[in-house]
Amino acid sequence: MIEFYGDHPALDLMNTVVHGEETWHGDADVMAWLAAAGQVTAQGGAPGNPGELLAAARALRETVRTAVAARKAGERVDVAALNAALAHAERHMALVAESGNGLSLQARYAAGTPQQLLAPLAEAAAQLLATADFKLVRKCEDHACTLWFLDRTKSHRRRWCSMALCGNRNKVAAFRQRQHES
Ligand SMILES: [Zn+2]
Repeated sequence: MIEFYGDHPALDLMNTVVHGEETWHGDADVMAWLAAAGQVTAQGGAPGNPGELLAAARALRETVRTAVAARKAGERVDVAALNAALAHAERHMALVAESGNGLSLQARYAAGTPQQLLAPLAEAAAQLLATADFKLVRKCEDHACTLWFLDRTKSHRRRWCSMALCGNRNKVAAFRQRQHES
């Protein structure tokens, strides 16, 4: 079961390394993740030669991780690597007939190569870097946890990747600490 805690595709991409542990071991893992993330519609085979998608996805993840870390630290972001990924995007818009005679406008991306398949993710990352308030782009407060999220809560006080993974454990620890002190 693939869980998403990032509340943004680019952060979910970074979160595919969990506590230093790789969750992508082959093209099929990347395809399954892309499908679960809603980045691909049909469950098809991976484009490219075997292992190509895995390598491209890991490379994009590293590019995004580096850029997000730099942006978060208030440092200059090296835009060249992400721009190279963005250059692979090939898309057109399509009008889609909805029920009740409504129409929606949707972007359709070419997905013939691993880089094309990953281009929408690269665009999401670029969007985050250019427009997000990075005070709200944070790492989980658990010091052993490596997961990132975009805090979309109204109060902007989100602290944990999830209550189940880190929140409850830390609250119990803080409670014990207080009991110990009193
Ligand atoms: Zn966490």
